[in-house]
This record gives sequence, C-alpha cells and structure tokens, in this order.
Amino acid sequence: MATNTMDDGEVALENNDKTEESTSPPKDECKVALSDIPFHLLESRWTFWYTHRPTTLRNSSVNYDSCLKKLGSFGSIEEFWCYYDHMKFPSELPLYSDVHLFKENLKPMWEEEGNRLGGKWILRLKKGLSTRLWELLVLAIIGEQFNVGKEICGIVCSIRPQEDLISIWTKTANNQIITQRIKETMKKVLNLPLECPLEYKTHNDSLRDNCSYRNTDRVRYLGLFGDFCYYLISNYRILLCLILWATVTAHLFEAIAARQICLQLNIDQDSTYLWMIQTFILGYPSLSILQGYKRRGLCFTINMSSSSNNQQDKPPAMNLSDAEWKKKLTNKQYRILRKKDTEFPDTGEYNKHFETGIYKCAGCGQELYDSSSKFDLRCGWPAFSSSIDTSVRRQVDADGYREEILCATCNGHLGHVFAGEGLRDASGKIVRERHCVNSASLQFQKGK
Ligand SMILES: [Zn+2]
Repeated sequence: MATNTMDDGEVALENNDKTEESTSPPKDECKVALSDIPFHLLESRWTFWYTHRPTTLRNSSVNYDSCLKKLGSFGSIEEFWCYYDHMKFPSELPLYSDVHLFKENLKPMWEEEGNRLGGKWILRLKKGLSTRLWELLVLAIIGEQFNVGKEICGIVCSIRPQEDLISIWTKTANNQIITQRIKETMKKVLNLPLECPLEYKTHNDSLRDNCSYRNTDRVRYLGLFGDFCYYLISNYRILLCLILWATVTAHLFEAIAARQICLQLNIDQDSTYLWMIQTFILGYPSLSILQGYKRRGLCFTINMSSSSNNQQDKPPAMNLSDAEWKKKLTNKQYRILRKKDTEFPDTGEYNKHFETGIYKCAGCGQELYDSSSKFDLRCGWPAFSSSIDTSVRRQVDADGYREEILCATCNGHLGHVFAGEGLRDASGKIVRERHCVNSASLQFQKGK
C-alpha cells in the first residue's frame, strides 16, 4: 500500500491523478475490475474525504470546509479496494489529519442536514493502533454489519499529537436504542473489552464548543509553540542534543565569566585555567564560589601577596600599652589607629594630597607608602596601589568580609584593602588593589 503525499498533507493516489481529478478509481486498476469482474454492489455508495489543517487554521469551520478534499466515491467492494489500496495507513498520516468515509453526498460536517441532529461515538486510541482498527470498522460499516439501517453517516479517523481517535457518526443522537446498538457492534467488531470506555458527543455539543474532541488538542492552544514542543518531545534525540548544546554553551559562558573574575581577583594564570576548567565541568556552582570570593574581595589577594603573607603571624615589633598609646597619640589618631575607627570621608589631611614623599605610620613612624603609589580615586580617603615592602600587615576584618590593613610594626589600624575593582591610575595602568587608608593613620614626610 503506497501513496504519494502532497503538499499541505493532501493524499494523492498513486497514478498521479490529484485530488478532484482523482475522484474516480485509478484507471489501470479499475479497467480490469470494470470489464472483467462482476461488481459486488454495496448497500450504499460511500465517499472518502481527507483533511489536514495547519495549526493556524484549526478550530474554524470556514477553513475546515476549504480544507476538505474529496478523494472519490465508490458503490462496490471492488471500487472500494481500488481506493483503499492506494491510500496511506492512518498511522502514516501527518498530525492533524483526518480521513473520513461518509455516505455519498454527505459532507463530514456537523452542519450538514444529514448530520445535524446526530452525534458520534468516539474511541480514543494509543498511537500506533489506529490503522488496524480503522480498517476493521470501515469494512464493518460498508458491509452493513451494524444493522442499523441508514443511521450511520460515516466514520472518521483523526490523527492527533497524544492519541488517535476513531469516531462513528450517527444520524440521530436521541435514538438511544440505535446509538447503543452501534456502540455494542463497535466493541464486538473490534473485540474490545466490555469496560472499554466509548464517549458519545452530539454534534450540537461540538458546534457549541467548536471542538470535535474534548481534551484532544491540548497542544492546540499553544499554537506553533505547542507543535514545536510536541515535535521535540516526540523526537527525543533532537531534544537531548538541544539540552546538551544548551548545557555546553552555558558552561562555556560561565567559564568565560570565571576567567573575568579571576582577572579581577589577580589570580595567577595557572590557577585561572584551573578555575576555567572546573567551571566548564561543574558550571554555576563553581562560578558562584568565585563570585563569593569577588564579593568578599580578599581570598586570593591574601594568598598571592607575598609582602603581607609572610608576616601574617609576625608579632608587631612595637608593643605599647593602651595608656602609653593614649599618651603618645592625638585623640583622633588613637581612635583610628588603636580602636579601628574610620574618619569621615573627604575630611582627611592627605585625601587630596599629592606631594612627593613618603607616608609613614603616625603611631610608630614606619615607612608605609611611597607617594608614587598614591592615586586619586575620589573615594573620600587616600588611596594607594601598594605598600612599601613588608610594612603593611593584613587580616580579615571583624566584619568577616573586608580585609583590614595594619602597620606591621605597631599593629596600628590603617584602613582596608580592596581587590578586583577594575580601577586604573592616572597613567591608565590597571590597579590590582586599593589600599584605602585613613589620613589620621599617616604622617607625610616630604622629599626622599
Ligand atoms: Zn606603626
């Protein structure tokens, strides 16, 4: 059984006679039947119809009519096989296709005079079962096995995303005896179990809700997006490839983001590569760790700053009692150097100070910063890009986030250091870190 498939889902017959022209049986096939074999006439004449409605046209009776293609009529069993042998199996039809077999001169439409007062028995099927059951029912109907006179109008096989449906249209919906007999015969012909549910829906109800089958076109409401989703679900290899592609792409971007953070944190090249590889493999969890380090702004600067790292645990050389410091320092210096206070922004003596010289510790006189490392950040406090040798010690601030800087000699509080801010000094050079120092902690010595 082979057929051609035409654009827009139309079904063509194998001799290339298309649609309207092909309403009579294929010539070569039927020449034999017409001339040599006596016809076995059927009780009624029947017509095959076919519809395939694109997503955007579904649910519109006007468009339904225009999509309806008549394949041909027959009145004998020989003519029936001429058509049937050249039609596709229901399971081979595209989604949203319907094959109809209706009494001749009766269109498969609710509004038709012969259908208007009727309804239909609906049998819902798992995908893949429709072909065999459709054939059994078609043969039973044209063979008049239902024994209900002219009460059967036609039969439809509908191909939908989640299931296929076969429905038998009856002429009178309110004739309980007839409709029940049709139901029982349907079950008998298909050898269905007694408890198998069959749903009856009148055409009036279908007209009212403009829907042939309840819950069948679930994807329909999503339109093209729904079709796309269904296509992905039913082609799981493509779905898996898409997920894989999205994951790899996301991890790649995260690895690039990790590199940026590593640069901002002044992490050395080897470690940067390791972080990138780790982030590419693990994805966001790895990146979020780096982002945490960035927020805290301290992790790696502690490790890489040899100037301070070596003396992390080194006790200060100058150790005075609190009373001695009070006596030695001004109130402001004492508050800041010994009690870790912070002066108000833009109030310090050296905030806008750009003379050449050395900035010493106001507590002990230790040389801390060279004026060449000072840059104008306008942050409200003196800013230095680096300290002199090992004169400045670092430790995690009491707040647990910032990194405190202290005079390595007297342990006087200077301020805080911040890394990875992406700052540039006056010459445009990237500043790896910023020592934000209280003016009160410093004593400037000109020259040198
Ligand atoms: Zn000091």
